[in-house]
Amino acid sequence: MTTTPTVERPFYDRVMEAVPSGEKLKLCLQCGMCSGICPYGFAMNFPPQSLIAAVRAGDLDPVFESETVWLCVSCFACANVCPAQIPLTSGLMASLKTEMLLRRKVPAELQTALENTRRYGNTLGESPRKRSAWCQSITPAIPLMAQTKEPVDVLWFVGDYASYHPRAVLASQAMARIFQALGIRFGILGPEENSDGDVQYLAGERGLLEILAQKNGKVLRKYKYQEIVTTDPHAYNVIKHEYPGVGVSVPIKHYTQFLAERIEQIKPLLRHEHKAAVTYHDPCAIGRANKNNIFEEPRLVLSAIPGLELVEMAHNRATSICCGGGGGGNWLDGFAWQQTHTRMSEWRIQEALASGAQTLAVACPYEAPRFEDALKSLGAENKLVVKDIAELLADAMSA
Ligand code: SF4
Ligand code: SF4
Repeated sequence: MTTTPTVERPFYDRVMEAVPSGEKLKLCLQCGMCSGICPYGFAMNFPPQSLIAAVRAGDLDPVFESETVWLCVSCFACANVCPAQIPLTSGLMASLKTEMLLRRKVPAELQTALENTRRYGNTLGESPRKRSAWCQSITPAIPLMAQTKEPVDVLWFVGDYASYHPRAVLASQAMARIFQALGIRFGILGPEENSDGDVQYLAGERGLLEILAQKNGKVLRKYKYQEIVTTDPHAYNVIKHEYPGVGVSVPIKHYTQFLAERIEQIKPLLRHEHKAAVTYHDPCAIGRANKNNIFEEPRLVLSAIPGLELVEMAHNRATSICCGGGGGGNWLDGFAWQQTHTRMSEWRIQEALASGAQTLAVACPYEAPRFEDALKSLGAENKLVVKDIAELLADAMSA
């Protein structure tokens, strides 16, 4: 079968030009490791190895007809194991998704999240004015950067889900209590903050990422602060790795890094035990994505909590199984279910249960809602509690 000439060569060239190390696409060994490790590889008509072969052959029409690329949840497992270091997730898969968007072959739920981002600056379609509503009940009040007169220690980039989702805001409220207990002078952007753009980019919308990065960059440059801390692994990943490419260079830390650095200050404040076996789910975006390798800091923080026994799941750190929510996956659950009749979040819950844990600790605002839903669909609500690390720490600190 032959492909349309306007698609085949420009596509190959675009991937290689648009993505750092994109030229490595040529180095594929066809070893199959990417397809083997891909969690949805079993259900894809074209798993990553076959996609590269199709790109080389200039035979992409069957790929676009199959819609197989929407099974990719941007977990970075393939890119992490590729011996040729080909940027599979942020390069090949994101570029193929861009082609699908151009052809208007996109699942409706994801289309809505992208449209919400364009109109409201967040994936949930919420009013930008309500972006700081989650903290209105907190005393002392959380300052908006626009209201601060003095430089602060920390500018907290909260993120979409952590600002709006009713389950995720509980972790944001816990993090606010921790900052206050540590005496950190901090502020948030509130209505001035826009979606960070990571999931949109990984879902093929690089243009949208560039718009969001410019908007966020303009605001971040306005204020004086020592460092940026985020509660969203996707914000960490994209601000660190993609914003510099569009002219926005700001240093950023994930909140578990920030807390791990202050662990000796935190320990005397931990008054309450969490007497349980706890297992930790490594989010892809701060773990194996772009070799961010934030694996030990969350475990260090958890281990400081009195009474807590840390246990590991079979897949942990760089081999962690994705929750299924990253890179647009959060809005592809219906599509993935239709294609596979499985849920990655349920696989992960089953691993957590097998570890003997009573608590599943998370460090990403997508995860508590996703894993709590999975517990319900598995009928296992009474067997495991899902808590963000910030919630566990704030509970241990509370008077
Ligand atoms: S792991 Fe890398 S080298 Fe091996 S088939 Fe996949 S893309 Fe090619
Ligand atoms: S990023 Fe994850 S889901 Fe996507 S192709 Fe690679 S291994 Fe599969």
